[in-house]
Amino acid sequence: MFGRTPKKSDNTKYYEVLGVPKGASPDDLKKAYRKAAIKNHPDKGGDPEKFKELAQAYEVLSDPEKREIYDQYGEDALKEGMGSGGGGHDPFDIFQSFFGASPFGGGGGSSRGRRQRRGEDVTHPLKVSLEDLYNGTSKKLSLSRNVLCSKCKGKGSKSGASMTCSSCQGAGMKVSIRHLGPSMIQQMQHPCNECKGTGEMINDKDRCQQCKGDKVSQEKKVLEVVVEKGMKHGQKITFPGEADEAPDTVTGDIVFILQQKEHPKFKRKGEDLFVEHTLSLTEALCGYQFILTHLDNRQLLVKSQPGEVVKPDQFKAINDEGMPLYQRSFMRGKLYIHFTVEFPDMMLPEHCKALEAVLPPRPSMQMTDMELDECEETTLHDVNMEEELRRKQQQQAQEAYDEDDDMHGGGAQRVQCAQQ
Ligand SMILES: [Zn+2]
Ligand SMILES: [Zn+2]
Repeated sequence: MFGRTPKKSDNTKYYEVLGVPKGASPDDLKKAYRKAAIKNHPDKGGDPEKFKELAQAYEVLSDPEKREIYDQYGEDALKEGMGSGGGGHDPFDIFQSFFGASPFGGGGGSSRGRRQRRGEDVTHPLKVSLEDLYNGTSKKLSLSRNVLCSKCKGKGSKSGASMTCSSCQGAGMKVSIRHLGPSMIQQMQHPCNECKGTGEMINDKDRCQQCKGDKVSQEKKVLEVVVEKGMKHGQKITFPGEADEAPDTVTGDIVFILQQKEHPKFKRKGEDLFVEHTLSLTEALCGYQFILTHLDNRQLLVKSQPGEVVKPDQFKAINDEGMPLYQRSFMRGKLYIHFTVEFPDMMLPEHCKALEAVLPPRPSMQMTDMELDECEETTLHDVNMEEELRRKQQQQAQEAYDEDDDMHGGGAQRVQCAQQ
């Protein structure tokens, strides 16, 4: 084609763009590109054209083969070598593959030029105790994940070249047609199994030896998950760009979802804690004190005021002994104590006498004989109210079912009669 004899300036421009000398080492190139790309990234208000130039320059110079061609024959030779489709990569792809996930955070990022698909996020439940959420903790977790093969940089081949899959013509997908009936067909799309949906094939001889053309390899990675004070059940802790790497894909996130285990003593509601405590009747009437071991093992002394009476089902609260607030852990909710009062099962007559001496008189004993004569005697039975309600519900359900059955049965009979 044109310009096979390069002009002198043709093979220095890329070095000038990156601001490195012609003999720069791969490391120097990398450093120069990193610095310039961050500075000129359009998300940071940089010039998109300049950013594109940088990416293009780095793409060529970071590849020893391309760099050699460029050094000898210049830019035009590379364009010819890339064949149909113009070759050039999206500058954002190069930036992404260089840095992994976007260093500017946000994950979603700009829609501009984002041709890469986004890899799936990987979620893991992470069991934590209420103590963990109260005190904060960190957990080291070992995970294995796919990373781009270090030898072929995720290309799968030694040369970096690949051929279009002949089975799917590079689409990665194939359509099959199923006949469901004489005039009905179903079209189904499924990934091409020749190329595993990638749309490309790698020549056997060119296959990368390290990954055997898979483009990725397994890597063990230890992640330290920091559970902060006051975090909640269901809260997500995200490690951006730590999910499986795949070629031409923005790596997804690893997301841990906190799952709080039930605590035998404390219940949490938002920023508050609830604890159950049972008092004897004597304690409820005459005073109590007890030790409550908190989630950080502090011993709290809980005691009544002189003369105070606790009624069954009553709540009391201690301020600032609830859960620490997330990211404001110096603030805490309340600790509620729900009291149950245990009554004695039986009372002897002399006990009643002793109590009646100090407690208010019994109004029920002040009825006249006249009043009593007019009444009918009754007998009280002990009942288990839960049991009673359950039985009632079952009975109702059965009746509703029977009614339903009757209706259908009757209907069917009528149809039969009509047919005869
Ligand atoms: Zn490889
Ligand atoms: Zn294919």
